[in-house]
Amino acid sequence: MVLQPSNPFSQRNGRRTHQKETSYVMKKSLIGADLGGTNIRVGAISLQGKILHFKKESTNPENGKDLVIRKLLLMLKKTIQEEKAQGRKPVALGIGAPGVIRIRQGIVVSSPNLPDWIHVPLKKIAGREIGLPVVVENDANAAAYGEQWMGAGKGANSMICITLGTGVGGGIILNHRVWHGEDGMAAEVGHTTVNPDGPRCKCGNTGCLEVYASATGIISEVRRRLKREESVLKDLDRKQEGKITAEDVFRSARAGDLLSLRVIRQMGRYLGIGIANLVNIFNPELIVLSGGVTAAWKDFMPMVLEEVRSRAFEVPRDRAKILKAKLGDHAGIIGAAGVALQMLKGFKGSRVQEFKRTT
Ligand SMILES: [Zn+2]
Repeated sequence: MVLQPSNPFSQRNGRRTHQKETSYVMKKSLIGADLGGTNIRVGAISLQGKILHFKKESTNPENGKDLVIRKLLLMLKKTIQEEKAQGRKPVALGIGAPGVIRIRQGIVVSSPNLPDWIHVPLKKIAGREIGLPVVVENDANAAAYGEQWMGAGKGANSMICITLGTGVGGGIILNHRVWHGEDGMAAEVGHTTVNPDGPRCKCGNTGCLEVYASATGIISEVRRRLKREESVLKDLDRKQEGKITAEDVFRSARAGDLLSLRVIRQMGRYLGIGIANLVNIFNPELIVLSGGVTAAWKDFMPMVLEEVRSRAFEVPRDRAKILKAKLGDHAGIIGAAGVALQMLKGFKGSRVQEFKRTT
């Protein structure tokens, strides 16, 4: 029993009321941070995975890593102060960071979105400044865990999350845990080959899923086709001085533009090939798709389903549901907090278990 007899929320007439139990549980909270190349998000999250409050600021990585770290620490300290003012005590901090992360040491080894971050001991720095147990997780893994904990994959035992954004990221959850691989490099779904003769990817390979299924890839494909095909995007491109966006492509597809539709259908085809491979390898319960490109869901999903139907084996294919993510931009902070809670369970298993039992 974790509650002390002197605790005002503990017992009354031998029974605890529901409201008072909730008040007691709410006294502990988690802090989740999502350090992105564009924005830093920091939030206070309840032990049950609900966002209590959050803040967002621009990262401005061009100002250098020291200023980015200072901004992150300031946001963390403010959030912790706010929690204390609300009568809650944060018990752990999870930070999702982009790039290659040494999980155990909490070191950001390198990051394409934060170019001057080379071997940054983020866990050590945050631990020293914040004074909480800290875990640093890859941002795509954190988002995947967030979706599995509180979003589209709630309660799923195994799930693969594919983020279709500027690039294509991935996170693999097996037996309710993030699968990191031996070197923390697992789940690079965006850089699996779906067409060996495809265009070159920024990773150096050719025909990666990312060159087809990311916003950047979609725009590049539109540009290649604009040289030989007609489209409403030609005028738009001229008007916007070469700055067409993936949203422009989705909009013109909905208006019936054939070039846009062909690009999105091709994207669906290659995404379907990638998903069929994952279904055959992992036999997962769920595939969850997140990111801005899912705005074109209705246009690309028929192709995805066709490829999965024709390429994946029947049993894993019938098992794997393909769902749209639910948490949007909050997946990262919720997931980072969730990973921190898992860490805490590892260190202080029985205590956290007892807290959870009171819900
Ligand atoms: Zn690649």
